[in-house]
Amino acid sequence: MAKSLLVVDDSATMRKIITRTVRKAGLSVDDDIKEAGDGNEALTRLEEGNVDIILCDINMPGMGGLEFVKKVREDPTKASTKIIMISTESADELIDGVKADGADGYVTKPFTPETIQKELTPYM
Ligand SMILES: [Mg+2]
Repeated sequence: MAKSLLVVDDSATMRKIITRTVRKAGLSVDDDIKEAGDGNEALTRLEEGNVDIILCDINMPGMGGLEFVKKVREDPTKASTKIIMISTESADELIDGVKADGADGYVTKPFTPETIQKELTPYM
C-alpha cells in the first residue's frame, strides 16, 4: 500500500524539491503529499489524518525540527510514524542527538534521489 508522506520545511521551494525527488525515486507514496512550513503546522497536519513518514527540516522559524521530533515522540499514538530529518546541518553531535530523541533517519542537503530512496526504502 502507498505510504502517506508529510514534508516539513520553511522553504516552499525546498518542499517542492523534496516532493519531486521522492516521486523521482520511484517510491510508492500517496499522490497527495502533505506539506507544512514549521513544526506547529506539521503537528496540525498530523492531527488531520494518518501520516506514515515525515520528512523534516531542522532550521525553521516557529517550531524547528528538533523540538518537533520531541513533540511527536511524546505522543504514543504516533509511535509508528517514521521521521527522517533533511537538513544542511551535518554535525555528528546534532545528528546523534536528534536520533536519540526519536528521529529514524538523517539526510544532509543537498541530497540525491538515491539518498532519499535509500533512507525511505526500509519504511516502505
Ligand atoms: Mg529551513
